Parts: sequence; C-alpha cells; structure tokens
Amino acid sequence: MEYLVVAVVVALVLVGGLVAFLAPRRRRAAQPPLGQRPGVDYVPGVGDDAAQSVDTPTRDLDTMPLPEDAVVEGAELLPPPLERPEPAAGRLVRLRSRLARSQSTLGRGLLGLLSRERLDEETWQEIEDTLLTADLGVAPSRELVERLQTRVRVEGIADPAAARALLREELVALVDPSLDRSLQTDRHADRPAVVLVVGVNGTGKTTTVGKLARVLVAEDRDVVLAAADTFRAAAADQLTTWGDRVGVPTVRGPEGSDPASVAFDAVRAGTEQEADVVLIDTAGRLQTKVGLMDELGKVKRVVEKQGAVDEVLLVLDATTGQNGMVQARVFREVVDVSGIVLTKLDGTAKGGIVVAVQRELGVPVKLVGLGEGADDLAPFDPEAFVDGLLGTS
Ligand code: GDP
Repeated sequence: MEYLVVAVVVALVLVGGLVAFLAPRRRRAAQPPLGQRPGVDYVPGVGDDAAQSVDTPTRDLDTMPLPEDAVVEGAELLPPPLERPEPAAGRLVRLRSRLARSQSTLGRGLLGLLSRERLDEETWQEIEDTLLTADLGVAPSRELVERLQTRVRVEGIADPAAARALLREELVALVDPSLDRSLQTDRHADRPAVVLVVGVNGTGKTTTVGKLARVLVAEDRDVVLAAADTFRAAAADQLTTWGDRVGVPTVRGPEGSDPASVAFDAVRAGTEQEADVVLIDTAGRLQTKVGLMDELGKVKRVVEKQGAVDEVLLVLDATTGQNGMVQARVFREVVDVSGIVLTKLDGTAKGGIVVAVQRELGVPVKLVGLGEGADDLAPFDPEAFVDGLLGTS
C-alpha cells in the first residue's frame, strides 16, 4: 500500500513537471519564426533594409482627409485664449508692498529719526541725508526738512503716531496731489488718441507699452500698437507678443525701416479700424542727441499730419538715479513730455526720484512700474505711494 501511494505521488509530480516544461514551448511554437514580426522581436542589423522606407510619405493631421460630416464648427486650430488683464484702478494700493526697499530706507529711516526724544541738529542732518540718499534731490530735501522743523517747533511731536502723520502729510504735499495725472487716451470724433512712448533703451519702454495696452484693454478700449523701434527686430517681436496676449494688433515694418512711417501707418490703421488709442513704441538710442532729436522729432511730425499727439510719455528707470535725470533733460529738449513713467520702483531704495524728476521736468509721474509681471504697472497715486513708503503702522 505504501509503495502504491509513493508511486502515485511520483507519477503526479512527473506529469506536472512535464506539462510545465512543455506549455511555454507550445506557446512559443505558435508564433512566427524570429524575424517575421518586424519591430517586435527582430533587431535589424547593419545593412538590413527597413521594412518601410523612411521616404515613404506619411499622412499627417493636415493632409489626412476627414469624412465630410466630421468637420465640426470651430474645430480649426485655435490660438491660445486671450488673457483678461486686471483693471488698473487701485493697483498701487495692491502693489504697495513692492515699495518695501524704498520703505526700509526712506520711510522707516525717517520715522525712526523723527521719533527720537531729542531732535537736535545732528538728527536733522541725518534726516536730510536720508532724503538725499533716496534721490529726493537737494532742493526738495532741504525744503522738507525746513517744513518739518517748523511744524515740530509749533506743534511738537507727542508720539510716533504723530510723527508718522506729520511726515505723511508733508511727503504727500511734496509729491503734489494737485497735479493732473490722468492719461489723455480718449478717442477723438474721427480718429484715435495717440500716445508716444519715449525713453532710453533698457528703461522698460516696450514692457511699459505692453502693460499699458493691457490697462486700456481692461477698460474695454480698442488699442493698436506701433513698433516704431525698427532697429531691433526683437523689440517689434516683443511688442507683438504683448499685443497678441490681449488681442491687440501691432503695426510693424521691416527691420531698419523708417520709424516715422511705421508710426504713421499705425495711426492710419487705428483710424480705419476705429480704434480708441494708438500706442507708439519708439527707439531710444542715446548715442547722439542730434540723432535722437532727428528721429523722434520726425516721428512726431509725421504722426501729427493726421492729428495732434495726445500724450508723450517719458519712461525712466528709477534705479538709475542721477542718470535718469540727465536723460529727462535730454528728452525734454527733443519732445514735449506730458507725463513720466517711472519703472523698476520695485527694485530700488530711491523712491525720492518721483519728486526729483517731477520737479526737473515740471510734468507729473503718471504711471509707475512695480515689477516684471504683465499687470505690474500702476497709475500713480501720491497718497498710496507715500503710504507704501511709510509702511502700514
Ligand atoms: P526697453 O529697451 O526700454 O524697451 O526695455 P524693455 O521693455 O525691454 O525692458 C527692459 C527690462 O526691464 C526687461 O527685463 C523688463 O522686464 C524690465 N522691466 C520693465 N519694467 C520693469 C519694472 O517695473 N520692474 C522691474 N523689476 N523690471 C522691469
């Protein structure tokens, strides 16, 4: 009996092993021999011909015929969706924290000094130095110190809150809230408003034109851009990209073509399209003042054949300090600047430049750039600006 059990177990094991051994071979035997399934288990060797020549024309999405009833409305390749720019109102309040670097030197520095128990001669000197360091300019710094001295003598400063209120009031007065900072971008009866944007290359001119187009689009205005910086193809490309993002057309010419004729064409296109505003980006090479004068003067004259230019915005880089002031003087001689755009205020401790440049040119700062983001351009508001400098108490 025992022998019988052992014999049965041995027989079962042998049969099982045989089945397991044969099964994969049976499966493999059902497949075509090696080399007959190209690309699956055949590795081509050097000199072998490909099963299908690389030259064989292939069908792609553009050439493949579609069944007639498969054409669905709107199924053609769509451009990326248009961006919806942020409305500009109140932007400076939202972007106020970007003034943090100015804040630490100018605002906090001044507040610290004014809150000292004893305001002696040395402290007043420190206050004046702080203002100068922030690029406020010599005359405005002196003036502010004198006004503060008088008010401290008459009213006294009871606590830090009083020092802050006093400083806020005087700084706002210095920035001058009475200036008209609105942009003349209202369409005329028969033609668009024209805004000429000038400034030295690198100050952020093209970026500003792009950002300004977004501000206007957010207000539902029809805008046309003119890439009148024809010396660098990259500048025209950059501007076109800004426009494309918000559905605004850009008029451009071949590289090296006459900037005045591009500007002229853009204004004509704007008139034909019944646009509200034409924004003209210009070249800003400052090698020779004569060259700049000739070029900008010509752009303005040629554009004015179709009607007056409504705004000439001078773009200045706030981080360049005195250099910016020199540029401001040169441009003032070339064109009648009607407003200043101060860019890169987010990257400087020299917020005082706002006052200095307004005084120098006698025209208001209308817009400020507070970052590289598409909506980081804010209408300038003296109170929000000073609050940004002083920080929230
Ligand atoms: P353009 O040569 O005067 O037209 O100058 P661009 O528009 O090409 O700008 C030069 C550089 O400045 C770019 O890298 C911009 O992103 C940057 N820029 C422009 N405005 C601002 C700003 O307000 N803040 C900062 N941080 N960068 C800015």
